[in-house]
Amino acid sequence: MIEFRPEGIYCPPADVYIDPWLPVARALITHAHSDHARTGHGKYLCHTLSEEVLRLRLGQDIAVQTLVYGESISLNGVRISFHPAGHIIGSAQIRLEYKGEVWVVSGDYKVFSDGVSTPFEPVKCHSFITESTFGLPVYDFVPFSDIYHEMNQWWSFNTRDGFNSVFIGYSLGKAQNILRHLDTSIGEIYLHGAVANINDALGRSGLPFPGKRVPELNVLKNTIGAAIVAPMSALGSPWLRRFKPYRIAVCSGWMALRGARRRYGVDKGIVLSDHCDFKQLNQAILATGAENIYVTHGYQPQYSQWLREAYGLNAVEVKTLFEAQLNEEIQEEI
Ligand SMILES: [Zn+2]
Ligand SMILES: [Zn+2]
Repeated sequence: MIEFRPEGIYCPPADVYIDPWLPVARALITHAHSDHARTGHGKYLCHTLSEEVLRLRLGQDIAVQTLVYGESISLNGVRISFHPAGHIIGSAQIRLEYKGEVWVVSGDYKVFSDGVSTPFEPVKCHSFITESTFGLPVYDFVPFSDIYHEMNQWWSFNTRDGFNSVFIGYSLGKAQNILRHLDTSIGEIYLHGAVANINDALGRSGLPFPGKRVPELNVLKNTIGAAIVAPMSALGSPWLRRFKPYRIAVCSGWMALRGARRRYGVDKGIVLSDHCDFKQLNQAILATGAENIYVTHGYQPQYSQWLREAYGLNAVEVKTLFEAQLNEEIQEEI
């Protein structure tokens, strides 16, 4: 019912691909991150809240059809529905049912609720395709409530010391998670253009976020105590330098690793991830009741071995053709 082809994950009876890497006639898209939503497909099917971002990134003229969570369509006898993945706004697990057999392609997901995206819901299935970005026990994230408190405390301390606070996070997903939880009573919030563009697209879908866009050539005078939200590409850029003096925090699951903050050469690491840590992965996978688990991007060999040994699941790793290229692209988004 599902095959792993060079183009991507394929469902022969429905003749559709899920998050394909190469151009295909019909693509089901779990979410709008670039390693999942690529250009050149004939038709796109995605969640309603992914549409504006998809058009922003891939072109206004792409052919998009949308579904809301729980709604289903039928393609050649395959029932297809989207379910909350909790990863970013509009992210979905895609459920495919054919002659009583059920598969779920989860895309990227997290169990922690970020207060921005619809919280993850486990979907019962026979076969589950999971990511494994943080599929090692060393990735053990503290609850988001603690992280949000830490972010605002750091911002307050910096303000008291006469600094601006720079929060580095990917423009789609992480930035909105940060923005929703910054305490706007502390100070002004300024946005990098990449973040502001995504926020504008989400605003068109009825989801407003705080913060002012700062254009490339704008001169800001004597700004102190502001929060600046920007992607990794802003590090070391003239755009960022205008906010000096500042302290910089990188918000990423990678910050759970020792030495990560120093490798980035920044002042603070904040362990804020849009992916599951090891415990969340285990919890989510067991909740599906699936016997067959296909492990994709991340720690495939280690994590599939863990699932076999710890839970006796029929877990195998799935290698993708474009692993190296994709890994490079997703470094920033996690
Ligand atoms: Zn993603
Ligand atoms: Zn991804």
